[in-house]
Amino acid sequence: MNFDRGLWIGHEEIAAQSTLPRLPVMNPYTQEQWGSVAQADASDVDRAVLSAQQCVETAWSTTSGYQRGRLLNRLADLLDAQAERFAELETRNNGKLYKETLTQMRFAARSYRYYAGYADKIHGEYLPLDNPRIVDFTVYRPFGVVALITPWNSPMAILSNKLAPALAAGNCAVVKPSEFAPVTTLEFAQLFKEAGFPAGVVNVVTGAGDTGAALVNHPKVRKISFTGGNAGGRKVMEQAAQRQVPVTLELGGKSPNIVFADADLSRAVNGAIAGIFAAGGQTCIAGSRLLVQRPVYEQIVDELGRRARLIRQGDPMQPDTQMGPVANAPQHARILGLIEQARGGGARMVAGPGIEGQTVPGRGLFVPATVFADVRNDMDIARHEVFGPVLAVLPFEDEDEAIRIANDSEFGLAGGIWTRDIARGHRVAGRLECGNVWINTYRVGAVQAPFGGRKASGFGRERGSEGLRAYLTVQNVMVDTAETDDDPFSIRT
Ligand code: NDP
Repeated sequence: MNFDRGLWIGHEEIAAQSTLPRLPVMNPYTQEQWGSVAQADASDVDRAVLSAQQCVETAWSTTSGYQRGRLLNRLADLLDAQAERFAELETRNNGKLYKETLTQMRFAARSYRYYAGYADKIHGEYLPLDNPRIVDFTVYRPFGVVALITPWNSPMAILSNKLAPALAAGNCAVVKPSEFAPVTTLEFAQLFKEAGFPAGVVNVVTGAGDTGAALVNHPKVRKISFTGGNAGGRKVMEQAAQRQVPVTLELGGKSPNIVFADADLSRAVNGAIAGIFAAGGQTCIAGSRLLVQRPVYEQIVDELGRRARLIRQGDPMQPDTQMGPVANAPQHARILGLIEQARGGGARMVAGPGIEGQTVPGRGLFVPATVFADVRNDMDIARHEVFGPVLAVLPFEDEDEAIRIANDSEFGLAGGIWTRDIARGHRVAGRLECGNVWINTYRVGAVQAPFGGRKASGFGRERGSEGLRAYLTVQNVMVDTAETDDDPFSIRT
């Protein structure tokens, strides 16, 4: 299969006007190119935004919530019916295990259904004022055109967190997928045509370098949602500030996963592995700092090292593979560089590159599952997001010290707590400075549950009712029911 595509604008695949070179579509497992996509310039982005704008004005804003919901459900049916095909495309493009991309396609479809249910239940309220002659009510309105910028690790799942509520709320979108994993987004956009949505409701521009900036800076874009790295997020926010456009940012993390000595240790080790090695650690919620209470510290380190060294890496399409390749070449080089740095920084490596008996396949962008023990929280490996299969294990003495270490980070996305003491679980959750806490589990996601970060991990929430509100702006309406007018110079209350 060769995937050579143009842009997707107004329900049509169109050639980019830009003369920028096309970008390769790669398979990180075979390291072969299997297609290419266009690089949109500012004029292409302008076409996409105007297409969305026209759809907002002429079609989507006059489509009832009921009808929007029906279309979203139809879209979910189409995605569910082709979940395997989409999962395979995603796996070929970003190397994530097929069993996980398949789950993500079903999750995405679920997300469109979830917000379909909201589409005809978006309403304001009547507000009785002190002045009885004024009738006051609120209406929730869509912003208009929204810009959605998504990363390469989970393109379809992350897009669904944004696009499903945006469309349910009545917005139209221009989507900018990562240049490293644009395939499923381009393919998915076609389903909107098939489902019967109006043309222009969803447009996709691909590119690298300036495409994202052209979109964020477009004067008709009224709301921006970005998921990705902190450097990118900062730039998006700086640019949005120039036009005072609201942004939702879902950025990186260095999430603490805290194991108390009274925990079910076997479950805790499984949770630690799920937290850092599932998806090869390429998730914003990766439990990349494992905090372990002293009495069980050596035991956990030994067990984690043993389990990490046994992880089966290989073809992400195969059901028995446990870790696939890293998604792209720059990320691969970056992770290996950070591992080397950590090696020289004083931490003890118990699994990772060069450890006897631990091997990775001969081809493909593989990084061995890596565990550093005896990490101090001021070491680089405890402070910077790796976004790869690299775990830093830190000992702690008591609850206060665990919380102090956990919160001593610029990030605040997620945190895990492993304990049999339910009171302690709640107590620690309440003191963690992060947007998502798991107790005796890790990495569970749900369409109903709000997701997002604090501190440098971003702000705003996706999923659940909070995720819908992110795409609505409230308008207050006052109607004077009096028969006579007031003195124009009096204060009106
Ligand atoms: P980023 O995730 O930081 O962002 C790349 C995206 O941002 C591209 O689509 C790019 O488009 C867009 N972008 C960059 N600058 C601007 C701008 N000024 N205005 C608007 N859009 C802009 O980059 P990488 O994919 O290289 O990932 C780097 C790091 O990010 C990873 O190592 C990892 O740590 C983290 N990451 C975090 C994720 C998460 O889920 N939180 C997911 C993926 C990565 P364009 O090039 O066209 O401008």
